[in-house]
Amino acid sequence: MEYEVVIGLETHVQLKTRTKMFCRCGTAFGATPNSHVCPVCLGYPGALPTLNAQAIRYTVMAGLMLGCQIAPSSRFDRKNYFYPDSAKDYQITQNGAPLCLGGGVSLPGGRHIRINHIHLEEDVGKLTHRPGCSGVDFNRAGVPLMEIVSEPDLRSPDEAIAYLTALREMMLYAGVSDCNLEEGNMRSDVNVSLRPRGQEAYGVKVEIKNMNTFSGIHAALEYEIARQTRALQAGQTIVQETRRWDPDSGETFTMRTKENAEDYRYFPEPDLPPVLLTPEQIAAWAKDLPEAPAARRERMMKAYGIPEYDAGVLSADRPLADFFEAAAQRCGNGKLASNWVMAEVLALVAKENRPVQDSALTPEALGDLLKLLRANTINGPTAKALLPELFTHGGDPAAIVKERGLAQVSDAAAIEALVDAALADNPKVVADYKAGKQAALGFLVGQVMKRSKGKASPQIVQKLLRDKLA
Ligand code: ADP
Ligand code: ZN
Ligand code: MG
Repeated sequence: MEYEVVIGLETHVQLKTRTKMFCRCGTAFGATPNSHVCPVCLGYPGALPTLNAQAIRYTVMAGLMLGCQIAPSSRFDRKNYFYPDSAKDYQITQNGAPLCLGGGVSLPGGRHIRINHIHLEEDVGKLTHRPGCSGVDFNRAGVPLMEIVSEPDLRSPDEAIAYLTALREMMLYAGVSDCNLEEGNMRSDVNVSLRPRGQEAYGVKVEIKNMNTFSGIHAALEYEIARQTRALQAGQTIVQETRRWDPDSGETFTMRTKENAEDYRYFPEPDLPPVLLTPEQIAAWAKDLPEAPAARRERMMKAYGIPEYDAGVLSADRPLADFFEAAAQRCGNGKLASNWVMAEVLALVAKENRPVQDSALTPEALGDLLKLLRANTINGPTAKALLPELFTHGGDPAAIVKERGLAQVSDAAAIEALVDAALADNPKVVADYKAGKQAALGFLVGQVMKRSKGKASPQIVQKLLRDKLA
């Protein structure tokens, strides 16, 4: 029997509000445990929550980005459970009436993954266990999360990762989350089942909880698909259950089955009014939305004449895409700008571990540098040599070239003298070349460039050498 994989993801995305969802405690990551807490997020009796308007705005923006319907009226519920990660013994979430409905994510290959809804909820505390004692840090308790729930439309681990990658890109574009995976800004519950190929009804699913790396999600899915396939082929039935991924052993383990599934006794949160949004309010927030990454890729390909690959690399990060577009416009050649941003600028970004927008290199400076290159005022090696300096210290390329006399020497007579000198000094290399050793030419070009202090036009040097050696 051949089986089809069915995957649905419930992805928690932490909103980048300055304060928590229902109190004024800060949300900064990595603070001393329990330093960002107050009676509200610790659930003291009588403490009342106040809704953070920015969390609503960000969630609406995320919903609009994903093509969701924004509910004119949504509300909060209490999810009741007793566990030490929550001091309140309940979590405020949206169960019955979430903020965003429908929508979806289009994957690069063209497949569309539907979203069921997006709801808002508060994060819980973080437990740490040591031998003989456990600790709880409530700094994270009350931090706003969106839960983006996909339909079971994903069909492979690769597709699940493509969906998460696209989702992350859109949330970064919308500016609603830092989507920092190491800091747990984006965590997914991964649901997976198998069904005989051709069957419409879904099979029994297993849920793997709280996964925060893409590689872990991929590996856990591979493992779980293999496990379920083996079980089904052996004639066993799959038990609906929640499982835990152990990255060390590379296996999933049962956490709880349906028999001990919890009953959360949801009821409307009595301390918060419903969230009512007018069409005018939603339209005003929609104005702040940037162009979606996929649309931007298409436009950049057309506007700058760059291939899909380039557009994909450049648009993956909004500040980088902005930088590229400004540099391309300045220098007037999109493909040249794309080559330089992708190869030279991104190499510096990696080496200096500094995003381009935090460097001293402005897109105008890069554009001007490329203009000098296009006009043959400077040669390629000179442009490359100047870039790290512009990245660290900034400056006006034209002024630097002038001040240091870096302009390319294109005067054939001046270069000819250097060529003659190089030939006279290297009779053995000349003989090698004449005997058919092509590589000897490169050496001679290098000798002439050195004599010109790197400023000769390499094209003219090559041509003169070829002519003289012919
Ligand atoms: P539950 O009632 O167990 O919470 P939901 O219907 O709310 O299940 O779906 C939760 C998540 O599980 C969604 O992302 C959904 O796409 C996914 N899902 C539901 N059924 C299946 C299935 N049979 N196989 C894989 N994923 C599924
Ligand atoms: Zn608080
Ligand atoms: Mg559910």
